[in-house]
Amino acid sequence: MNPISHPARSPVYRIGSTTVQKIWETDLNGMAFGQLLPGLDDRSRQQHPSWFPDGTHDGKGHAFMSVHSWLVHHNGQVILVDAGAGNDKRRPQQKALDSLSNPFLDRLRAAGVAPEDVDVVLITHIHSDHVGWNTRLEDGRWVPTFPNAHIILSDLEYGYGLALTAGDDAAIQSVRERAGLGEPVRTPVSGTFADSIMPLASANIRQVSVDGSEVLPGIRFLPTPGHSIDHASIELVSDGDIALFPGDVFHHPVEVFDPDLVSMFCEFPDASRLSRRWLLDHAATTRSTIFSSHFPGSSVGRVTRVADGFAWHAV
Ligand SMILES: [Zn+2]
Repeated sequence: MNPISHPARSPVYRIGSTTVQKIWETDLNGMAFGQLLPGLDDRSRQQHPSWFPDGTHDGKGHAFMSVHSWLVHHNGQVILVDAGAGNDKRRPQQKALDSLSNPFLDRLRAAGVAPEDVDVVLITHIHSDHVGWNTRLEDGRWVPTFPNAHIILSDLEYGYGLALTAGDDAAIQSVRERAGLGEPVRTPVSGTFADSIMPLASANIRQVSVDGSEVLPGIRFLPTPGHSIDHASIELVSDGDIALFPGDVFHHPVEVFDPDLVSMFCEFPDASRLSRRWLLDHAATTRSTIFSSHFPGSSVGRVTRVADGFAWHAV
């Protein structure tokens, strides 16, 4: 089975009077399910084939995933939801994201948006594959890619990134106590905060509490901690229609069917399970259109309730 190919131009989805379009960056194909989601083995694939939709795996136990941003035109503003992995970022711990050179900005321009046109970047969480395009390399230094944009992100994630980058143990513990999730099993990949957040002018960063309140008209950051310390899922309402950007609450559709699976990238596994179940319930109740961070193909779909849990329907 092959991954679904990427059209030169992704479809434009309408949510009320808002439009949403995927700006594809790269694929992450070939990761074994047992590595991505420890606990998931070949038996699941044979017992529950419907959990593994065509086009989301190679038929031999390896997942297909995508890395991309969502371009949103909402209330007269040009918004990006998450900022991909970026070019030239040194990520020796993550070979698939190390020193990339992708025509992401050309794809953005092909969708009618120049970097200086971007008004807002909404960040679900500060991980390397979600903040990378905040900056780009110019004459050996990191400069803002979107010079006129406000970057909206969690105040707690910002403080955590700053403390980890400084190696300030007291500050790290203080943020963890505020989060109340216990001790993590891993921390964000080092270097990300330094090369993709710190070079931004402080005037261009807006730190917000992830508490479900509006960060812009019609847009809320819903608390879904666990994958990262203060991970936000982003809900957008336009003329009564709802879009949900769940960030890394999910990496692959199989997690909709089996929400107790936890990815190898999650920092606080117990909290991530609770957040996933909460968000599935919320998505099914609100009949939201889901714009995922890593599902392959269209990356878009809906969640419904079924007898023993939830099901994923790509659209
Ligand atoms: Zn991610």
